[in-house]
Amino acid sequence: MDPMQKKSRSKAPKSAPAAPTRTLTTPASSTLPAATAPAGAPAAAAAPSSGDDDEPLDEFDPIAHPVRAILRELGEDPAREGLRRTPARVAASMRYMTQGYAQDPVALLNHAVFEEDTDEMVVVRDIELYSMCEHHMVPFFGKAHVGYLPKGRIIGLSKIPRIVDAYARRLQVQERLTSQIAHALFDVLRPRGVGVVVEARHLCMMMRGVEKQNSRAVTSCMLGLFRSDARTRSEFLDFVR
Ligand SMILES: [Zn+2]
Repeated sequence: MDPMQKKSRSKAPKSAPAAPTRTLTTPASSTLPAATAPAGAPAAAAAPSSGDDDEPLDEFDPIAHPVRAILRELGEDPAREGLRRTPARVAASMRYMTQGYAQDPVALLNHAVFEEDTDEMVVVRDIELYSMCEHHMVPFFGKAHVGYLPKGRIIGLSKIPRIVDAYARRLQVQERLTSQIAHALFDVLRPRGVGVVVEARHLCMMMRGVEKQNSRAVTSCMLGLFRSDARTRSEFLDFVR
């Protein structure tokens, strides 16, 4: 029997799930880029480097120099007003978008694990995700859904989106990103199982190459019971659908 076809429940995931599974939908507004936040929203103030001219920039960042060369190669004049600070801005935003290299997700998890006598599935769905494809260095973005079945140890729910970010903010391929998130949780929590589903749209497919605007890539990594037990897997997939 194909487990993907068999649903243990016919309900839509959002309609008050029958009992014990904990589902957390991350608030959509929490990580929206400033550009889409309502004007004057407090979130905008805390938003990452927006490219505003008053932000501190390092003109001598080693990334800035080759960016100037790229601009020239493209036929641009790096000295013109609008581009004058662009190399330093590109350097700063590249460093922001790849800050995951400086983070140790496993250490981050280790500090937030606590003993808890529960064995019901925990699911955090719709975690916004922004990453960069390592083949073209252009963004891919979408959502991650993460579930696990605890075995005496749980982790603070807010840590799960942070794990996603720590792996997403690097040069990535979606398949590896998905598997790294799953294995980090599996190694640290030693749970009965972990499931991760990532759905993302790749600008390298949308703006160039095949120019497909509406295709999404979906990847998954199932470990432990999520892999070996069709009912566990289908319960998780029902929640993230
Ligand atoms: Zn690509």
